[in-house]
Formats: sequence, structure tokens, C-alpha cells
Amino acid sequence: MSKTYDNNNIFAKILRGEAPANKLYEDDNLLMFDTIDPIADVHKLLIPKKPVVDLNDFIEKCTEEEIGKFFKSVKKAAFSLGLKENEYKLSTNCGELAGQAVFHLHFHLLAGKIHGHNT
Ligand code: AMP
Repeated sequence: MSKTYDNNNIFAKILRGEAPANKLYEDDNLLMFDTIDPIADVHKLLIPKKPVVDLNDFIEKCTEEEIGKFFKSVKKAAFSLGLKENEYKLSTNCGELAGQAVFHLHFHLLAGKIHGHNT
């Protein structure tokens, strides 16, 4: 079932340049920026440019080509930080019961020591 996307969520504002963010990587498919509340030595957020609520919504609303392009960009973004292929993890909270707090799909990119468990 499709979910309603709130155009005023904080990540939508970051994408439109209406809210601040420390942007680290950007291309046609995604934006990567620092989280305001890091729980690991490296903790970045990666968001698709498409207005989708969560992973289920992304899979429902995007074409296979768009999904493929997004994940190719995830790898480029991770490598742009100097991370190697054997030292990072990706996680996404799908829905409020899983701990999702911002309802624009985002992946937590984590590396190094993890200090907390909220992702
Ligand atoms: P989640 O609980 O999976 O929805 O994760 C939300 C993430 O967004 C957490 O890492 C928050 O610290 C982060 N966050 C919330 N607001 C902002 C913001 N304005 N700029 C950067 N990160 C944010």
C-alpha cells in the first residue's frame, strides 16, 4: 500500500536547500550528509532524491532502473569517504515500530566503532 509523503519533512527541506546540512556527496540519485546525532565513528545518512517515505515505498514507486541507480550511487558515496568495500554497513528503519523518525527514506551508513543501537 502506498504511503503519503509529507513534503515538509526535514529531509525534504534539506533536499530543497531550505534546511541546513553538511552535504558530503550528491549526484542525480542521492544526497549524503552528516547525521546530527552520530552513533558510530562514521555515521552518514544517504537519501534518494525521489520523495519516498521508506524502503517499501521506494520499492513500490521506483522503477528497477531507478533502484539500481540509487544503489550504484550508494557505493560511490561510501567510497567517496575513503571507505573500503569490507568496512561499512547500511541500515534503514522501515516504519515507526522499527524506530523510523524521519519519513523520507534514509540509509544509515556506519563504519568504525558503533556507540549506540538506534539504527
Ligand atoms: P531514523 O530514526 O532511522 O529515522 O533516523 C533519523 C536520523 O536522522 C537520525 O540519525 C537523526 O540524528 C537524523 N536527523 C534528524 N534530523 C536531522 C537533521 N536536521 N540533519 C541531519 N540529521 C538529522
